[in-house]
Amino acid sequence: MEKKFRKIAVLTSGGDAPGMNPAVRAVTRKALEEGVEVIGVLGGYKGLIENTLVPLSPRSVSNIITNGGTMLYSERCPEFKTEEGMAAAIETCRKNNIDAIVAIGGDGTFRGATDLTRRGIPTIGIPATIDNDITATDYTLGYDTAMNTVISLVDDLRDTCESHARCNVVEVMGRDCGCIALNAGIASGAVAIAIPELPFDEEAMFEKIKSVKAAGKRGMIVMISEGIPAIKGGDYCEKLTARLNELLESRFSRLAHIVRGGSPSLRDRLTATEMGVLAVELLLKGESNVVICEIDGKLQPVEINFALILDRMYKNKLKDGDLDMFSAEQIDEMRAVCAKRKAEIERLYQIARDVCK
Ligand code: ADP
Repeated sequence: MEKKFRKIAVLTSGGDAPGMNPAVRAVTRKALEEGVEVIGVLGGYKGLIENTLVPLSPRSVSNIITNGGTMLYSERCPEFKTEEGMAAAIETCRKNNIDAIVAIGGDGTFRGATDLTRRGIPTIGIPATIDNDITATDYTLGYDTAMNTVISLVDDLRDTCESHARCNVVEVMGRDCGCIALNAGIASGAVAIAIPELPFDEEAMFEKIKSVKAAGKRGMIVMISEGIPAIKGGDYCEKLTARLNELLESRFSRLAHIVRGGSPSLRDRLTATEMGVLAVELLLKGESNVVICEIDGKLQPVEINFALILDRMYKNKLKDGDLDMFSAEQIDEMRAVCAKRKAEIERLYQIARDVCK
């Protein structure tokens, strides 16, 4: 059923990611093009509670396509999960005649979107996190830029590793998802890659390093995903570097928040623009409580509840009753998505083994 919206709001929430600004720009311009007013909410859901809003025009989003971070700012907001917080957010929407919302962020943001939709404010999510850890979508905004930042920084480390016949252990962000480490590791020729999704054989890595060193390799990069210290202990990378140092001179670099910033890549600008436009089109057609996903190269809406439970299934975090609301076909579909994602990781890991030496 189509509903005539006169005003929508756009917000960015959770961890920031390059691509958020291009998405804000696309949502704003597409909505205005359709004759719908646009309000920017400052500071994510906190801004909804505190009524910190700015009207957006085609010109107020000029030039932001090249900027990392988010012009609408992003803050964590635990109050949004409370009854009082939600009531205040709904009151802001009512007072300002906000008919619908586009919420740009990660899975926490989508949970908030579901709550808003349930309370009468139709909301659509756009996935943005450098970690690419939202199982329902093959792509999240910021991922490509983050990987390009990693390979650029690691290329610089390689120069100096090569000069000094040195090894550099590099830890990269990704929480419990090894996508950045795996892909950027392959692209920067890391001699070893450790990700939380697959067992990491430290002894086999030492044997490999000994053998490539004996064969004349001078500079080496060992790429460790953030999820590995989470499993093996917080100072795992430091300990690994100390152990490697007995074999060849070794250093440790943690590429943390530097990887979250920077000008969005072509991929992020383009995908953000397409996702932003589709989010507005779907809202105006009466859809809500969905997240825009990229599946096999095509953008399509996925029910937020389906996306959140699929994510839990993939991360082995399903709780009793989680699957009760889904049909057997939907559960099969979830299992197929999980299997596809795992197979893709295994395929790339094998490529890394074969080629990076
Ligand atoms: P991300 O969206 O990147 O996963 P967070 O998990 O921090 O980041 O979530 C962003 C915001 O979404 C939170 O600060 C909070 O305001 C809101 N949020 C998170 N979880 C929920 C929830 N279960 N219900 C309602 N709102 C939530």
